[in-house]
Amino acid sequence: MEVSVHQAAKQLGEPVPYAWTGSVPAQSYGGGQLSFLGEAALQGTITGEKDAFRITGEASLVLDTRCARCNEPVQQPITFSFEERFLRAGMITPEDDAYPFQGDTVDLEQAFMDNLFLNLPMVSLCRPDCKGLCPVCGTNLNRSRCSCADQPQKSAFDALKALSFEK
Ligand SMILES: [Zn+2]
Ligand SMILES: [Zn+2]
Repeated sequence: MEVSVHQAAKQLGEPVPYAWTGSVPAQSYGGGQLSFLGEAALQGTITGEKDAFRITGEASLVLDTRCARCNEPVQQPITFSFEERFLRAGMITPEDDAYPFQGDTVDLEQAFMDNLFLNLPMVSLCRPDCKGLCPVCGTNLNRSRCSCADQPQKSAFDALKALSFEK
């Protein structure tokens, strides 16, 4: 995810546009894996400062995941934006809130990933009103109905009723 900062270094203070597209490798996350479909797109501007660059990004990519309710595959688009500062490697002190760069290019991958993780959806659903799976028989209730809900339910209340007759 490398972009050239050559132009921005020549005209300090002026935002220089950049664009990057490419595939994002699968990431381990929360004990599982995050995979992405197709290519990610990233664009923004690079503004040169003395020994530093301020880089904005507008990112979009597609999360290849499964519905939290019915477990069907879901392709969930994610968009996010960021603004990060990059300092020449070797000049960063622990107080600097910045990413390092070397030479004429900036590798945006770490900044991209950090911001991606901040913008991940809490849950992915195949559709907002997904009915999920029947907890009794496992039928996908988006596709068909089952008769479980029509059966009389055994509840704790039934058990209490039964108790009160036990003498
Ligand atoms: Zn679903
Ligand atoms: Zn059922």
